[in-house]
Amino acid sequence: MLTILRHIIQEVASAEDFSEALDIMVKRIANALATQACSVFLVDRHHGEYVLVATQGLNSKAVGKLRVPLNQGLIGLVGEREEPINIDDATKHPRFLHVAEAKEEAYRAFLGTPVIYHRQVLGVLIVQQQEPRRYDEAEEAFLVTLATQLAAIIAHAEATGSLSSLLETSKGKRHELVYAGVPGAQGIGIGKGCVIYAPFDLDTIPDRVPDDIEIEITLLNNAFQSAREELRLLSERLYPSLPPEERELFDVYQRILDSSGLGNEVANKIREGNWAQGALRETILHHTRHLESLDNEYMRERVDDIKDLGLRVLAYLQQHDRAKPQYSERTILIGEIITPNDLAEVPEGCLAGVISARGSSNSHVAILARAMRVPTVMGVGETPIHELQDKEIIVDGYYGQIYVSPTPSLRVEFERLIQEELKVDVALEEIRDLPATTKDDHRILLLVNAGLGADISVSLASGAEGVGLYRTEIPFMMRDRFPSTEEQRIIYRQLLASFAPRPVILRTLDVGGDKPLPYFPIKEDNPFLGWRGIRITLDHPEIFLSQIRAMMRASEGFNNMQVMLPMITDVTEVDEALRLIRKGYAEVRDEGYDIELPPIGVMIEVPSAVYQARALAKRVDFLSVGSNDLTQYILAVDRNNPRVANLYDSLHPAVLRSLIQVVENGHQEGKHVSICGEMAGDPAAALLLLAMGFDSLSMNACSVGRVKWVIRNFTRKKAAKLLHEVLSMESSVMIRCHMELALERAGLGHLIRVGR
Ligand code: PEP
Ligand code: MG
Repeated sequence: MLTILRHIIQEVASAEDFSEALDIMVKRIANALATQACSVFLVDRHHGEYVLVATQGLNSKAVGKLRVPLNQGLIGLVGEREEPINIDDATKHPRFLHVAEAKEEAYRAFLGTPVIYHRQVLGVLIVQQQEPRRYDEAEEAFLVTLATQLAAIIAHAEATGSLSSLLETSKGKRHELVYAGVPGAQGIGIGKGCVIYAPFDLDTIPDRVPDDIEIEITLLNNAFQSAREELRLLSERLYPSLPPEERELFDVYQRILDSSGLGNEVANKIREGNWAQGALRETILHHTRHLESLDNEYMRERVDDIKDLGLRVLAYLQQHDRAKPQYSERTILIGEIITPNDLAEVPEGCLAGVISARGSSNSHVAILARAMRVPTVMGVGETPIHELQDKEIIVDGYYGQIYVSPTPSLRVEFERLIQEELKVDVALEEIRDLPATTKDDHRILLLVNAGLGADISVSLASGAEGVGLYRTEIPFMMRDRFPSTEEQRIIYRQLLASFAPRPVILRTLDVGGDKPLPYFPIKEDNPFLGWRGIRITLDHPEIFLSQIRAMMRASEGFNNMQVMLPMITDVTEVDEALRLIRKGYAEVRDEGYDIELPPIGVMIEVPSAVYQARALAKRVDFLSVGSNDLTQYILAVDRNNPRVANLYDSLHPAVLRSLIQVVENGHQEGKHVSICGEMAGDPAAALLLLAMGFDSLSMNACSVGRVKWVIRNFTRKKAAKLLHEVLSMESSVMIRCHMELALERAGLGHLIRVGR
């Protein structure tokens, strides 16, 4: 059974498209179980029906047409029960539904199993047979196993839009393509897709209509020629010393490149309308899929050879890559991974939206996009992003969805939402320079999180009363080497000068995790539990001291700087960092700078720091909660993984209780307690943080207005009552509903609702 299963799975994986995959599956299952019929019904949520999408044994003309309401028949029963149903004579079952167009009268034995993905029934897989009989346990287990495979295929088809086109074609109408991801930065962006891709990575190459087909073919021929020449030289040099099997490899490579077959195939794809790099990706993918499906070990091993050859040719094509990203006036930037550099390269004012295949709401690129106020959708994973080049796209950063080639009416609807957003912005502008004081006169500081050079002006314009977190790693990430002490000093001084006399908290370098430095690669299986933040800088005191000296020198004459340490898990780290900071300070004083030792704080970002908040507070001047990491570590939910994004919520009761503990411990030591994770910019959470007693909230520039509005429209007493109420609740879903309802009742629903 296992061998048969493996074959079916491989064959299905190499299918050209979704329909073919389904057809292969039903045929092979019918064969393997020696049964007369096998069919797949998929759920069409739009119409509340199951649709027959593939069959072996039922009326093939009914495919795409036969529809059964979700709550009817045996198919409906399998979906409702969410478990297999095995009946020897289905015609006698009370839920048997006779559908004439199916032509299933002849069948009596019935085994149906639900196809479930992420707890959701996507369809039903059934087998049938004329003679009444019960399928045995092994057959049932076989079908259930295949249903789990089918679930992944359907989920992929759903994400890539093939599922909706299949279902809608059957209803004779089409909607625009909608792809789902995770909200990254709120807002609606409408613009033209611009796909960026990593060099030397075939899989990420987008499709692109070539400007000139002949030029693309010439480029291709030259690239093949160069790859051939490279291999020839290499083999000449190495051949004599190579063992026979390795020589054979060279021969295989040469044969593939010499035969006109592969080159011609790519050229044909160019003539069909793709540029050389896209055509190469299509061709190599086609061959690797085919080889992977073969039942021959030797041929399967050739997959790596084909990929390797493809990469060699690609490298030559990219040497002459004339097509640098073409940014339009309203660019929707799309990529597997988007880096801060990619964002910075789009000309000012042209970035209308961002779509990242990887990452989640609290990935650093999403945080940066929020700081830049660019609507962003993260984690669109399965979406075929290479097809999005030059397409008109709507990015819905509220819901985490993207719409490709929208209909005019949908576009109008989203344009209306953009106007609504602008209205809210105008209203918020009116309170920009007013303090964040509650109706019962409690004042809380609202600060801004900064990091990108370009966002100083945005931060200043937000009405914030200082910078609660400056992520110093961002300028480090935008270079191809560590910045010198002097380069750092200039950046910090500009920031301190722009905000003086308002306070600015500079955080020491926090790289590792999802913030790699291109020139300081760290390879780890588990980077978020590995070498990151203070762990790196304490291991490299020369990097730490260079940064501290730059900060100290930069602060001369302003007296508004504070320094904060990230990812502290233990008091010894603080002791060691303080020793180095005092050393750096003394050295800079010795150089003749007239400066005070700045206030030093630690970030509370991991559970151990929560439990030791008091010991930490004793050593420093302030605490600042990094709720992005704290949520990730308390809930054990990777902040970058869209698959578990639904579990990541800073309003989780466990997170709220740890925040209360931090505030209490910090205040017991008489220290200022702040919070600088994204949670502080969430109007619903901000009220609870106010009630807990946080002295300041630091957030993205775009959230300052909304949070200030909420605070000015509430009393602290009411916030305390809400906190008391939510502390009796056991789930973040209930807590969020409760808080949103409270905002709604206070007439502030529009602050959380724009775009919904
Ligand atoms: C945090 O973890 O909440 C935080 C502010 O730091 P970062 O998002 O940069 O990791
Ligand atoms: Mg952090």
